[in-house]
Amino acid sequence: MKKHTLLYALIILAFNCKENQKEAVTSSKYVEEPHSNAKPNESVIKHLDLDIVVDFEREIINGSATYTLENNNASEIVLDTKFLDIISTEADKKPVDFELGPFNKQLGQSLKIPISEDTKQITIHYKTTAKTEALQWLNAQQTADKTHPFLFTQGQAILTRTWIPIQDSPQIRITYNAKVTVPKELMAVMSAENPKEKSKNGIYHFKMKQAISPYLIALAVGDIAYKPVSHRTGVYAEKSMIDKAQAEFIDMEKMVTAAENLYGAYDWDQFDVIVLPPSFPFGGMENPRLTFATPTVIAGDKSLTSLIAHELAHSWSGNLVTNATWDDFWLNEGFTVYFEIRIMEALYGKERANMIALIGRQDLEEEVEGFKDEPNMTKLKLDLSAKNPDDGMNSIAYDKGYLFLRTLEETVGREKMDAFLKSYFKTNAFSTVTTEGFIDYLNANLLTPNNITFNTEEWIYNPGIPENQSVIVSNAFTNVEQTLQSFLNLKSIDVTKTKDWTTQEWVHFIRNFPETITLDDLSRLDAAFNFTNATNSHIAMVWYEQAIHHNYHGNNVDQNIEEFLIRVGRRWYVSTLFKAFKNADRVDEALIIYQKSRPNYHSVTANTIDALLGFESK
Ligand SMILES: [Zn+2]
Repeated sequence: MKKHTLLYALIILAFNCKENQKEAVTSSKYVEEPHSNAKPNESVIKHLDLDIVVDFEREIINGSATYTLENNNASEIVLDTKFLDIISTEADKKPVDFELGPFNKQLGQSLKIPISEDTKQITIHYKTTAKTEALQWLNAQQTADKTHPFLFTQGQAILTRTWIPIQDSPQIRITYNAKVTVPKELMAVMSAENPKEKSKNGIYHFKMKQAISPYLIALAVGDIAYKPVSHRTGVYAEKSMIDKAQAEFIDMEKMVTAAENLYGAYDWDQFDVIVLPPSFPFGGMENPRLTFATPTVIAGDKSLTSLIAHELAHSWSGNLVTNATWDDFWLNEGFTVYFEIRIMEALYGKERANMIALIGRQDLEEEVEGFKDEPNMTKLKLDLSAKNPDDGMNSIAYDKGYLFLRTLEETVGREKMDAFLKSYFKTNAFSTVTTEGFIDYLNANLLTPNNITFNTEEWIYNPGIPENQSVIVSNAFTNVEQTLQSFLNLKSIDVTKTKDWTTQEWVHFIRNFPETITLDDLSRLDAAFNFTNATNSHIAMVWYEQAIHHNYHGNNVDQNIEEFLIRVGRRWYVSTLFKAFKNADRVDEALIIYQKSRPNYHSVTANTIDALLGFESK
């Protein structure tokens, strides 16, 4: 970058800065970003017009992406691409040459398009390829209804560039319109204003009028239908799932209201959830206006809906106020876990909230232990420059981030904490925040004015967990531990004690089995509670983990574990079970299952398990 260009950019940006933004965390210029080739300080995309055809037969998307630009005197614009077939490019509708940079395993290739001072628009004609990492093409057998194929995208962290050429950094924000053509019998939905019925000709038009980060552009195509839950919330799902989804998520409006009462108005108009086929790699993905969710969250008793509270909370922390780079990921997730648990407390009380918090606290303990040889990975602010940002997506960002905010709340008091968070979301709405910007904002708006000292920097920049941590207590869990102990002593269990247990209590019970638990104990518990055939996915998962760990083979549990791993692609579940196999020295068994299950996994899950099991894909 030429020096005068930068200076010019800063003057322009400073000039454009609205007065009411002067207290915002972000400075106007884009920060150094290890996971994107783009040079947004020189020229940056502002709006996308996407025009694509979804071809299920060839399993490709082809079409064009047209961007409106803001050019600060640059002679080229640089975008990110990975595994895309770039066909041709235009500047203001006139053909221009393009240049693809060398391929990098993490980042893909830069795409350089020449522009001049007055270029308003560029267009890229392109096709996706079989190597795309964002798209998962499912055949009919891999869906719930088993009648039609299905496609969904997963953009976070840096996969959007594998289905749209784009400046793929979270600090870029764009609005978009899209025209998407799909087979007539299918319906398309996006992270945008969505249809509620199928179109006659398979053509759908979308509009996202709020500016979002590229990782939040999302598309799903399948034989799906819509059912409202309230005037501004609802569910999309395949036919066999739609009623179950609507019943499970019946509290969505209450969640949105509780969230608004905490931290201000919901800024995205509509909050819908689409229940995807079971191979979806995450619990949920907070695509704006349309959360993508795993069907494993449907337990029949609303017991796993904290996941919906979590994705909803991202409408503030993540989608409205966004981490500037993936090194600042804890700003997205730590705040979201804090907000999620506050929503759960507002709806279901403190005891339920504390149970969720305590399970996260235990996950954090395990994660810190797991990183004992890599303590730098237990810092909130990470340095992922030579790594895949996916490596930072673990319990540290979520649960250490939460613990930091909970400890801060206990130090300053809830009233001040809530006022601070509300103003943080409002002041920084539709912009991005770095960790350093957050610390400045925290000092200026909460700590200094109230004369409070807090070891913020230790929490953020040091490995491990500081001494001054909030201690999370759950009476319900103490009761669970006593029930388990009395079973181990007496070899029998009083089932009246467990009849009203929530999922969280069962999970705590099972995860607390001591090393010395015997196969007879496990058989007796399985006979009493039929854990092996649990329909609640979280309970099943932790039971299978124990079964693998303790070499328990009763009740045909091995068959259930194999079926579960083949059907479900949720990375957290799958990696927990494969890790259990590995730790129990049963990798050979794991690999036999993995050969069968891998074709059903999205690339983000497959990449994690490949590395875990040392599996070489062709
Ligand atoms: Zn999240």
